[in-house]
Amino acid sequence: MSQQIEVLNKKLKQAIESRMVIEHARKQQVDTLTHFSAKLSLSCKGMDIELDNRLAKFRSALAKGVDFEMFAPLIDEVLTLLKGQEALQSAHQRELYNSVQDAGKQLQKTKGLPDDARRTLRHLLDHELNQVQSNRDFIPILNRLVTIYHQALHAKLTLTDSKQASLQPSLAKELLNLANDLVFEDEAAEQVKTIKNNISETDTVDDLLVSAIEIIRIIAGNISKERQSAQSFLVSLNQTLEELHHSIVSTSKHSQSMGAEFDALNKRIESKINNLTSQTQNATSISSLKALVDNELKSLSQDLIEKERLEQEDRQALISSFNEINQRIGSLEGKLSKYKKRLHEQRFKSLLDGLTKLPNRAAFDERFNHEFHLFAVQESDMTLVVIDVDHFKSINDKYGHSAGDKTLQVIAKALQMSIRKSDFIARYGGEEFVLLMPGMSLEHASQPLEKLRKAVKGIPFKFKNKQVEITISLGVTQFKKGDTPLSAFDRADDALYKAKNTGRDRICISK
Ligand code: GH3
Ligand code: MG
Ligand code: MG
Repeated sequence: MSQQIEVLNKKLKQAIESRMVIEHARKQQVDTLTHFSAKLSLSCKGMDIELDNRLAKFRSALAKGVDFEMFAPLIDEVLTLLKGQEALQSAHQRELYNSVQDAGKQLQKTKGLPDDARRTLRHLLDHELNQVQSNRDFIPILNRLVTIYHQALHAKLTLTDSKQASLQPSLAKELLNLANDLVFEDEAAEQVKTIKNNISETDTVDDLLVSAIEIIRIIAGNISKERQSAQSFLVSLNQTLEELHHSIVSTSKHSQSMGAEFDALNKRIESKINNLTSQTQNATSISSLKALVDNELKSLSQDLIEKERLEQEDRQALISSFNEINQRIGSLEGKLSKYKKRLHEQRFKSLLDGLTKLPNRAAFDERFNHEFHLFAVQESDMTLVVIDVDHFKSINDKYGHSAGDKTLQVIAKALQMSIRKSDFIARYGGEEFVLLMPGMSLEHASQPLEKLRKAVKGIPFKFKNKQVEITISLGVTQFKKGDTPLSAFDRADDALYKAKNTGRDRICISK
């Protein structure tokens, strides 16, 4: 019996022990599951409210110690929800993929994107994007897209800069024309030269503005210099006139006072002669007559000597006074003629182009208008030619502005030498010239103009030891009834445009 009890006791002990082991294992499993579910809810929190609720339920069931069999459907539900989440996730990833790809393609369309950025972008879209496995993989790709985007933005900005730059050549041209029209001497001439060099070397609008201000400053300085010199001339003119007036007044005063003295003397002489006449008639004897005449003659001869002296003095004063006046008038004339000469020179210079010494645009305009008036009356033939040097900018760009200047001088000379005496050529501005051919009809103009074209083409220019051929394009027209100077010029300009667009180095005619 006691043996049996012992066996039973042992079995009970064993049962208790194995139950304890089971209890322990179960506790561990529940702990692990609780831990796992807590982690799962933490990582899934906010993705799906349903999933959040299920996981909370799951954790409280575990804490309550619900049977394991009861967990199976709960776990199934959580699994289904997780699968749904997975599908949602990959849909999101596809969306992200598509939008990154769209953004990339949009970027590819950007103008002015640097070559290497474009290459990187292509590689990113064609290869790297396809290798993305998780949302996190998008982050470096997005980063690089942002970099390329910045490059595109920069390119766009510089594109607007270059739009501004496309404004710049016409501004520069205008300014250069203006500088060419300025004819100054000495220091101002040097300053204008420096500004011209600056203009052709600059590539920003700001620099051009600085040059424009410089030009205005020089013009203003010159105007005030001119005014000062005119003023000082007027002051000295005024002074001389005053002195002259003074001389004349003092001469006439002198003459007046002399005149009074003469009058008195004359009267005295006259009365003496009268006196002598009556006394002679009354004389009673020869001796008394002799004494009388003797006396009177002495007194008279003294008066006459006095008269002679006065006359001499007067003559002398008059001569010196006239000499003085003559001198003053002479100096006045000298000043006037100098001033006239300067004015004339200035006017001449203001009609002459400083660089080529050809008539300038102002001279052309004057002549052009004059010929137009004549044409309105006479309707004789008049051919108008606009000439433009081809690709002249590249001469400046390749060989420098000074070489460009020299080239213009040589071309101007060749043009001048190749026209008739009756023709009129002017530098219209920049590398453009205009030619008026009085008495020349359009039909006959081609031959001499061909000669002109070939003359320039044949100039053996040499830059940096290299033979360079320079050509010109010519636009030609003829004055027509009903024309205005502008309409005729526009027609010639249209012809020049055609010559430029059909290959340059040629003559085009607009009828
Ligand atoms: P195209 O055949 O179309 O006429 O080309 P182009 O380069 O001759 O014409 P564009 O009008 O673009 O350039 C004219 C150039 O002439 C630009 C300017 O720098 C230059 N230029 C104008 N005046 C002078 C000047 O007095 N001296 C120098 N060296 N260059 C000048
Ligand atoms: Mg031009
Ligand atoms: Mg040109």
